[in-house]
Amino acid sequence: MIRDPQALHALLADVREFTQTVCLPLEAQIDAHDAMPEAVVDGMRRLGLFGHSIPAAYGGAGLTTEELALVNIEVSQASPTFRARFGGNTGIAAESLIVDGTEAQRQRYLPRMASGELTGCFALTEPEAGSDAISLTTTARREGDDFVLNGHKCFITNAPIAGLFTVFARTEAGRGAAGISAFLVERGTPGLTTPEPPRKMGQHGSPVGEVILQDCRVPASSVVGGEALLGQGFRTAMKTLNKQRINLAGLCVGPAIRLVHEMVARARARQQFGQAIGEFQLVQQMIAESNTEVHAARALVLETARKRDAGEDVTMEASMCKVFATEMCGRVADRAVQVFGGSGYMAGNVAERFFRDVRLFRLYEGTTQIHWLNIAKRTLAAGGAGV
Ligand SMILES: Cc1cc2nc3c(=O)[nH]c(=O)nc-3n(C[C@H](O)[C@H](O)[C@H](O)COP(=O)(O)OP(=O)(O)OC[C@H]3O[C@@H](n4cnc5c(N)ncnc54)[C@H](O)[C@@H]3O)c2cc1C
Repeated sequence: MIRDPQALHALLADVREFTQTVCLPLEAQIDAHDAMPEAVVDGMRRLGLFGHSIPAAYGGAGLTTEELALVNIEVSQASPTFRARFGGNTGIAAESLIVDGTEAQRQRYLPRMASGELTGCFALTEPEAGSDAISLTTTARREGDDFVLNGHKCFITNAPIAGLFTVFARTEAGRGAAGISAFLVERGTPGLTTPEPPRKMGQHGSPVGEVILQDCRVPASSVVGGEALLGQGFRTAMKTLNKQRINLAGLCVGPAIRLVHEMVARARARQQFGQAIGEFQLVQQMIAESNTEVHAARALVLETARKRDAGEDVTMEASMCKVFATEMCGRVADRAVQVFGGSGYMAGNVAERFFRDVRLFRLYEGTTQIHWLNIAKRTLAAGGAGV
């Protein structure tokens, strides 16, 4: 749903300007040094990027799912590392509070998340609980008015720099998903540490790391949604991820658009056999396939976003968006390397960098395989209805 086309047009123009003039020129430097300049983060704050999905009542822009998808498509035409910096606040970290937080929790955290003063992160994954997140073993033991958390989270985006951690922990043994609760843990709480982040394949400049919880004591008021939602943490996580999968799909369309532009520029400029390589039909096919797939993914994402805004249950469609757009982006990045030829394999080349950066999309927030299973399960359960 687009509420005010003119206002959205102006917002998208501002985001485009920021992406093109601030982010693009810094991509290679950030990739090489694995650090995001604080001046860029300040620019993100001024532009309101941290608060796009946070309701206006808490200082955000309160964008609809469709509006946010359009912003995501725009902002992700620069390296995905930029969006990763504010992505928790306008995605999974704030969304848990938006969907299930108490009013006091929202008042305490959302305004500072919307302004970008406070960075949030979402700590679900553990070394032995990835795709099978329900098997997580981090515990939250009740002691009087407190809970004491013990466990180990890994691969948590922004954990090394976050001020607020949404930690999923087991409050009841032997109850599967129904024994998991979500906790809000502030940095500085004794017992919570975040070791130095390891290096990774791509998205340099976006720190991802572990969260160690050792007798970390938090008040019962830090259960997301209050004690009434004890045992509901996994549902909170799923509700949060449901929306985030549409966001992520939009974030795959942007890099693919960028790479089609890069392929076209290269195909026009590079001469072989006495002519531009773009004159060769086999090169044209790679560009045509990529552009077609961009259109298909964008249409699917926007349609699903509109359905969600209309209040429809889009659980299956969100999985379809995630799997189709992430795989599409991977194919486009692979073709981009091919169009660039040997140069596309060399460090510092734009296709090489995006190839590494977008590889992550097929892994997190549910791997491709997990989403295929989800789509199959729902399609079969519905007897094929709604196709
Ligand atoms: C850079 C990065 C950032 C991340 N950020 C976050 C974050 O902010 N918060 C967070 O909580 N997590 C985060 N993650 C974790 C991410 O969500 C997990 O890595 C992902 O869910 C996969 O889990 P796993 O790595 O344990 O792989 P595994 O679950 O071990 O999967 C390995 C392979 O087995 C396949 N597989 C597993 N089960 C099945 C099955 N039933 N059927 C068929 N195939 C199957 C998978 O598809 C995959 O191909 C991040 C990960 C990375 C790398």
